[in-house]
Amino acid sequence: YSGKKPGRVLAEKLHRILVGDVKSVPVVVSEQCTIYDAVVTMFIEDVGTMFVVREGGFLEGVISRKDLLKTTLGGQDIHKLPVGVIMTRMPNIIYAEPDESVWEAARKLIMHEVDALPVVRPVNNENGAADLEVIGRLSKTNVTRLFVELGEGND
Ligand code: ADP
Repeated sequence: YSGKKPGRVLAEKLHRILVGDVKSVPVVVSEQCTIYDAVVTMFIEDVGTMFVVREGGFLEGVISRKDLLKTTLGGQDIHKLPVGVIMTRMPNIIYAEPDESVWEAARKLIMHEVDALPVVRPVNNENGAADLEVIGRLSKTNVTRLFVELGEGND
């Protein structure tokens, strides 16, 4: 017995599991994608959150179920309106990087009350700033799946 309290052992284990180990494939659309096509994509891909990217896969925005529902109530033409008009836009996007702990990312989900984070890799652009290349998706489902796997106790 290491002398550590069991809670401490669990915490240390959780902090060692990285976003990159549990992330899923991201579902992305372009800013010009219509609300109608975004709804169809959401059903086909079976996700609750999609990321809006520009050429090169760089993050521009996030579009959620409620963003789309809200728009359908607004009486606008969903066949014409692009997701770029209604999405949550950079720099207001909460994201994760592959080498941060799942625990830290899960804390962001709770603190910011969102269902998913884009997993990104910062790439320096010519302006000396960083563009965020979308390389994955970390959702509440990923965290719940990890929770279930940890509960099974076979590591
Ligand atoms: P839902 O709309 O299905 O409840 P969320 O709770 O995740 O999904 O989204 C709530 C709001 O937060 C939406 O307007 C959405 O665009 C925005 N949002 C979702 N994910 C993020 C994120 N990672 N960073 C910033 N805003 C987000």
